[in-house]
This record gives sequence, structure tokens and C-alpha cells, in this order.
Amino acid sequence: DVETPSPLLQHLNPEQRAAVTLPNEHALILAGAGSGKTRVLTTRIAWLLSTGQLSPGGVMAVTFTNKAAKEMMTRLSSMLPVNVRGMWIGTFHGLCNRFLRAHWKLANLPQSFQILDTQDQLSAVKRVMKQFNVDEERFPAKETQWFIGGCKEDGLRPRDVQVRTEEDRRRVELYQLYEEQCAREGVVDFGELMLRSYELLRDNDAIRAHYQRRFRHILIDEFQDTNKLQYAWIKIFAFNPDGSSGAGNSIFAVGDDDQSIYAFRGARVGNMADFVREFQVRHQIKLEQNYRSYSNILDSANALISHNKGRLGKNLRTDQGPGEPVRVYEAPTDLAEAQWLLEEMRHLVRGDGPEGGTARREIAVLYRSNAQSRVIETALFNAGVPYRVYGGLRFFERAEIKHALAYLRLLENPNDDTSFLRVVNFPPRGIGARSIEQLQDAARAAGCSLHDAVSATTGKAGANLGAFVAKIDVLREQTQNLSLREIIELVLQHSGLIEQYRAERDGAERIENLEELASAAESFVMQEGFGRDAVALPVDELSQSPVSQGLDPDQPLLNEPAPDYVPPDAETGETLSPLAAFLTHAALEAGDNQASAGQDAVQLMTVHSAKGLEFDVVFVTGLEEGLFPSERSMSDLDGLEEERRLMYVAITRARKRLYLSHSQTRLLHGQTRYNVRSRFFDELPEHALKWLTPKNQSFGGSAFGFGAGYASTRSGGGGGGGWNADRFASPPVPAQKAEPSHGLKAGLQVFHTKFGEGTVLSIEGQGDDARAQVKFTRHGVKWLALAVAKLTPVT
Ligand code: ATP
Ligand code: MG
Repeated sequence: DVETPSPLLQHLNPEQRAAVTLPNEHALILAGAGSGKTRVLTTRIAWLLSTGQLSPGGVMAVTFTNKAAKEMMTRLSSMLPVNVRGMWIGTFHGLCNRFLRAHWKLANLPQSFQILDTQDQLSAVKRVMKQFNVDEERFPAKETQWFIGGCKEDGLRPRDVQVRTEEDRRRVELYQLYEEQCAREGVVDFGELMLRSYELLRDNDAIRAHYQRRFRHILIDEFQDTNKLQYAWIKIFAFNPDGSSGAGNSIFAVGDDDQSIYAFRGARVGNMADFVREFQVRHQIKLEQNYRSYSNILDSANALISHNKGRLGKNLRTDQGPGEPVRVYEAPTDLAEAQWLLEEMRHLVRGDGPEGGTARREIAVLYRSNAQSRVIETALFNAGVPYRVYGGLRFFERAEIKHALAYLRLLENPNDDTSFLRVVNFPPRGIGARSIEQLQDAARAAGCSLHDAVSATTGKAGANLGAFVAKIDVLREQTQNLSLREIIELVLQHSGLIEQYRAERDGAERIENLEELASAAESFVMQEGFGRDAVALPVDELSQSPVSQGLDPDQPLLNEPAPDYVPPDAETGETLSPLAAFLTHAALEAGDNQASAGQDAVQLMTVHSAKGLEFDVVFVTGLEEGLFPSERSMSDLDGLEEERRLMYVAITRARKRLYLSHSQTRLLHGQTRYNVRSRFFDELPEHALKWLTPKNQSFGGSAFGFGAGYASTRSGGGGGGGWNADRFASPPVPAQKAEPSHGLKAGLQVFHTKFGEGTVLSIEGQGDDARAQVKFTRHGVKWLALAVAKLTPVT
């Protein structure tokens, strides 16, 4: 009953309550940091579900990171007995992936398409450029990559790009060739995930009509950082391409113009004004009460951001008292800054902090650029303080991990040339650059993948290449009946990677990371629980779908939800293989380390990745001219204002205690720099600050280099040690071993209505989560969710 006051609304102020209970129409919540935007968004979903206005299958919520998606799911399932897997909660990329997996055929993609991360994309671009003898001096690969990404964000295919100069023409040609290469290899980049799903929704009336009807409510957090394509993607759920209204769903956007920090990557804060105009938004609510921080912290944030022009204008106040002053520290060197951090943390954890001992996970160290983390990591590592790094060189981006993933990707898709090239001669097996070039020529001439071109090669090089391909093909055979962990272990051994790193001087850490990969895969399988109740809906069968069954208090959540979960095909029950699902996860994952998620560790991250998060204690480090604000930003006003917003984000992460530090000298990118304190200190209110070191006139002059001064003193002491300390912890054991109800076992002959006859190779999971790997006579090996697929034993 809609009229009954819900206990969900009790912990909200009147404006928040009004926002949560708005009628089903488009709305914009514009409010400053810590005012409860995310809380309002989450509570609105819970409120719509609990009042019966919405079923879980009708929800789509967009968050900025996977971590935020997980948090939202966890919050929701603590508010309501609802199975969050049926809801579409995730990042734009995660949701587009899910959508394209469900409609791969219509999207004109191979079923097992793989995702290129930014690194892979760059090497794919380089490959195209090399093949066509493009001068890298004139057309740097990074620029080409940027150009392609920009076109996709503007929704432009090569044929749509306006060409004015010869250079334009060349760039567009490269874009076209890159697209052809991606299609041949069955891979998509991040921009493609968005653009391809947008085009499918735009061009396919039945699909669009279906999703417009299905998602009654679309809720978007951090709306100020959406780009042009993301905006168009949202719009297509509400409006048809001809401008007519869709099925009357409501878009609920929340954002803060003062926290727009991705303009450099194409975010358009103007999307907020466009949204109000184009969607004729009648409901705009401002939230002005900050619940996160004490007033010294909030005053600092307000004073700082007031130096920006052209703000939409919001106030932010708090009922909490002044709290502690904001502590400012000046260090002589970056090493000293790190030592000071360590000391302060010791006091905090021991109990000299706000309200007694502070948990490590409530302490965050923020920095402007990833390069700064190394010194801090080393200090923490040497002192044995557990810590966790978000962002940065993400776990899945480390070289050794990329190598292992390349082998795994080749098992799934032998035509993945990016992966082929990454490992064809790693570990070295006597295949030189010359042979590879010849192979590439042959493949181009034949219009096939490198893998397929190998059989035509001859001589010694041909023999070596043949041996490589044979190795991959044998591995594929050998791994067919194995669990994901076993597959990874086998591949690590037989690829020669482990042996290779064992022989390298610094190989130990790499081997540890490879072992961590096996653990990450295992915990991924544990968490994913494939096949459970969320099913890709065939168009027009919404009402009969299991997801519309709604709230089921007897259905406990199995385990932590995964935001990149892809449901099985509703018709055939076909599902991604655990390996394919894991590879997708690796490409989308924001570097969270699953295995150590529960450990009490200090949190290290860039200010960018701290968006939306909060901590009791926050250190903002490296506040120096040329670093924060960054060198590049200082020359133009827009750049400087974006840095100031970034600083606003940093300050407003703190609940109870905030430290701001800077260092007179810093070794960065191999150069010692002499620094002036950041101008942002002069924009903070003096009454809120406490100078731990005397407030100096910083000595002037801009940053200049002096060579690699004391670089040698900090080598060694591996980074990244702390967060994977519990690498060897054993995985949780399933509570009980139920008897299989499906009556299938390996070796059994079965019949599937679509795929025909086949043999069961293996079974994984229990009950509703059970999946079978079946080798079909006509259709090859497939993974099927047994709760959906109709498999009958053949006798
Ligand atoms: P940001 O702009 O940083 O993303 P936000 O506007 O999304 O911030 P939330 O993270 O939703 O803010 O809320 C900030 C903190 O205030 C959270 O700890 C939240 O639980 C708390 N909070 C929000 N509203 C209330 C309320 N009415 N009563 C008590 N606590 C609240
Ligand atoms: Mg938020």
C-alpha cells in the first residue's frame, strides 16, 4: 500500500523523503557532497519495490564503479529480502556488456566476444598502424586511440566522420581498419560496448520497445560525469529516435556539478541542463544538509569551491559541531611525508584518533597521480601495515597477468590476434619479429586470423609457429573437463610462464601474482553462482519471466552479488563458460582484489577513484603546485577549475579527521622536483586549519628537475605486498552437499531441443545454480544452466 508510511523513510530528512517518494516521472536531484544523494537513490529503489510499484526486473541503476554497484546491492539486500541479481545494477560498461551478451547475435558479435581494455586497445591500434606503414611520428598511436575513442563517444562510425584535411582522412581510414581488425578478432573495446548497445537500441524497434517497457525506473548516480554517448544511451530508453515518448518510464538522476571531474575524458556537466530541458523535468530537488563531515571539514570544502565560477549554486550545511581542525603538514621530502603518514596511522590505529582506535579500512590515503603511490606503498610494506591499492596499475593489468590471460583468451577464441601476438613468443620460443611479420602478411592476404594462417607457413619459423598453435590447441582439449582453477593452473604450468619467471631475478613477485590469479578465479566462481533466477528476457515475455516474481522472503541471497553477472539465455539456457565469464570480469573489473576484500587494510587510491566514497580519516598528500593542481591544468582556467573540483571531492571524503600534506621535494618520474605548496591552501579558511609544521612562505620558483637524486634508496621492498597477504586462505566450503536433482552426470548422452544430441562432459554448481558442460555432435561444447535448459537423457 503506497499510503502506509514505510520504515524505509524514517532515516531521511523531509527533502530526502520527498525525493525518494517522487511520482513516477523524470527527476533531477542536485546536491553537494555527503548530502545523501546515493542514499536517496538506493532508498528509492527499495521504496518502489516494497510498495509494490516495481519488481526487481524493472530496475536499472547506473553507478560509477563496480565497487559502488556492489555496495548498492549489499545495501538493498540489507533493507529488503530481495534478490538483487535480477536487477540491472552496474556501471555503464557492465550493463552494456550484459545487454550485448544477451543479444550478441542481433549486435552482430560472436557469442564469446572478448573485451579489450585500454592497454589492449592501444596495442591493437599500434598493430593496425604498423600493418599499413603509418608513420608513428606523424600519427602517434595514442592520438589515434584517442581519436577513435572520441568518435565513438560522439556516436560516429568511420563513414559519419567529417573529413576536412588529408590528416583527417588518414585518421578515419585507420579507424575503419581498426574496426575491421576488431571484427575479425571478435573483440570490442570499452567505447564499442556503449556504442554497439546504443545502436542496437536505436535501430531495433522491438528490442527498444521491450527494454523501454521493462525498465520502469532508471536511476543514475554521479550524473554530472556522464559523457555524450552515455546521455544518448539513457535517452533512448525514454524517447524513440523520432523524438516520440517511449513507454513512459522515469529517469531519476542524481549529481553534483561541483564534483564533475572527468571533463578531460569527455564528461559533459552540461548534460544536467540538457536533461532538465529535453526530458521536461518537473521535479528538481536540492539537498542541503551534509551528514558526512564535521563543520571544519565542510567549511574548508565550501570555501575552496567558492573560488570556481559558473556553478549551479547550492548550499551545504551541517548540524555536527566544528570537530577537529584540518591538519596541515609540510615534509622536507616525499620519503619523510610517507614516514609521517605511517606515524600518524600508528597513533590512529592504536587509539589516539577520533573516538578511540580507528580501523585501518577507515583510513584513506589519496593522491593526485598514481605515480605517487609507490613511495607510500613501500613505507607501508616495510612497516608491515596491511594496505590495499585501488586503481593504479590494476591487478589485471600487470604484465604477467596479461600474459596468463592471453593464453586463457586463446583457449576461448583462437582468432584473438591481440592475445596471439602477446604470447606467441613469450616465453621465448625462437619466433622472431621477421617471422611474425610474414605471418601477419599471410593472414592479411588470406583474410584470416594469425592462428589460422599458421598452417600455411613453412621452414623453421613455420615449425616453431606450428608448435605454438599445437600447444594452444592441446591445452584447449586438455582443459575441457576442468574447473576454472584447474584450467588456470594447467595453463600456468604448460605455457611455460611459471618456469620463465622462476628464471628471472624479480620473478618471485610475478609468480605470486599468478598464483593470486588462480585464487581470484576461484573466488569469482564462488561469488558468481551462475544461472540463478535472473534470465535474459526474450522480447515480450516479460510477464512470465522468473524475474517478475518479485520479492521472495524465503529466498536467501546466496553470497555477495556480482555487478558483472550475465544471465543465461532464456530460450536455450546457454550460459557463458566459467572461463569466458571470468575473462569478461577481468576486463571490466576495477582492480578490486576479491581474495582480500575482507581484510582490514589502509586504503590507497587516486582522488578520482575516491569519488562517492567516505572514510573516518583521510590524508590528501602531495598538495604541491604542478602536482595538485597538475602541471597541465595550470595554464587554463577550465583545467584549474576541474582541479579545484577534484580537491573538493578529496576534502569531502572525510568524516572525522582530515590531513593535508605537501613536500618540499619529490622524486617523480626519475627527477627530483622542488615544490611550492599548492595554491589551494590559500583558499581554505584559516580558522579551520591547524599547521602541524610552521606555516612557511614556500620557497619560490617553479618545479625543476635535478636528475634521479636518491632513487636507489627506495628500490626493492615490493609494492602490492600487503593486500594479498591472505592469498593462501582456503575458499569457503559450501554449507551442504545436496543430491543433484537434475539426474545428470558426466558421460551421459543427452538431447537439447535446439542443439540436438550431445554428451555431458561435466557438471558444476548445485540446485538452481547447476550448470552442465555438454559436447554437442553438431554444435560443439556449450555451457548450459540446468534450471533453464531442457536436457533430457537419451537412452
Ligand atoms: P557524494 O556526493 O560524496 O557521493 P552523497 O550525496 O551521495 O555524497 P551519501 O554517500 O549518500 O551522500 O551520504 C553521505 C553520508 O551521510 C552517508 O554515510 C549516509 O549514510 C549519511 N546520511 C545521508 N542521509 C542521512 C540522514 N538523513 N540521516 C543520517 N545520515 C544520513
Ligand atoms: Mg554519492
